[in-house]
Amino acid sequence: MESCVFCKIVKGEIPCDKTYEDKDFLSFLTIEPVSDGHLLIIPKEHVAWMQDASDETLAGLFKVAKKLMRAIKKGFKADYVQLSVAGEEVPHFHVHLFSRYLNDGLFNFPHKKYKEGEASKIVKKITQAF
Ligand SMILES: [Zn+2]
Repeated sequence: MESCVFCKIVKGEIPCDKTYEDKDFLSFLTIEPVSDGHLLIIPKEHVAWMQDASDETLAGLFKVAKKLMRAIKKGFKADYVQLSVAGEEVPHFHVHLFSRYLNDGLFNFPHKKYKEGEASKIVKKITQAF
């Protein structure tokens, strides 16, 4: 895709701090890390959203993610590594990996509780959309 920043990184038109590359995938440091080792993994082929990627692409990407998760955990002595898929910023499917530490206080999202009967309605919305 012509205007896509990540496609330009794949083509080498924009530099990146590369952490992994094979014929199908590329990984590089994010420019706005939330913790040490925060990187992105992308398929080299442009696809905007995770749900539009092929099963082969997803399987391959998650194999790369496992390899990089182990490296981040070891390299930064992290308690665990978080994997997130967001994707609003750049419309080229990408996975975030970053080191996490127990009680690090990142992402204390407010949580709500379901009201009586609400959970079953939500389950229906999901399962009836398959
Ligand atoms: Zn792209």
